Amino acid sequence: MEINRKQRGILVVISGFSGSGKGTVIQSLLNRYESFYALSISATTREPRNFEEDGREYFFKTKEEFEKMIAKDELIEYALYVENYYGTPKEYVQNQLDAGKDVILEIEIQGALKIKEMFPDTLLLFLTPKDAETLKERLVKRGTEQPEVIDARLLRASEEALGVGAYDYLIINDTIEECVTEVHSVIQNEHRKVSRNEEFINRMKEELKSFSKGE
Ligand code: 5GP
Repeated sequence: MEINRKQRGILVVISGFSGSGKGTVIQSLLNRYESFYALSISATTREPRNFEEDGREYFFKTKEEFEKMIAKDELIEYALYVENYYGTPKEYVQNQLDAGKDVILEIEIQGALKIKEMFPDTLLLFLTPKDAETLKERLVKRGTEQPEVIDARLLRASEEALGVGAYDYLIINDTIEECVTEVHSVIQNEHRKVSRNEEFINRMKEELKSFSKGE
């Protein structure tokens, strides 16, 4: 049962090695549980991949445009990843959290750590395939990157592995459907935490007080 309908949404960061399948998992999570979640769309200076559309996967920006967004303080965080800028626009995230939606950010580790520092009650999830060989296979099969970019992303993955300790949950993405179920249940359990339900508890306390006054 829903404890507190007015509870503010949770900011959920989902990271994972390039090729961990996190994009597919997140899309499937949004399709399956549409009313629960809002996905933040990032800005980036990287070139769109074939199937990508501006405003759907990313807001594609030039370096100058991106730097203007930084100067105008329009981003919650941003990071350089394999020679491109990536950043999270502020306004949409705040609005959705206020509306009670859990907002999913699919961002890399530097951004995740910055967000956790600014907003300590952010939930950090890290997705990984079951082993490194599967990771490489997925990157090669995806066929969207040149071999040297794949190598750079694998190198980046081994750096990122060092930072996984800062995350709250590690989730293995073996089959998409199971992984989606797991991600959803971790987020929903997070809503049950006592520390996220202060308002409810205070209300109960007030109501109980009225009994002890004999009203
Ligand atoms: P890709 O080029 O594969 O779409 O993304 C490269 C990396 O950038 C991924 O790890 C992705 O999660 C991360 N990323 C995407 N958007 C953002 C963002 O707004 N901020 C940060 N810090 N990383 C992001």
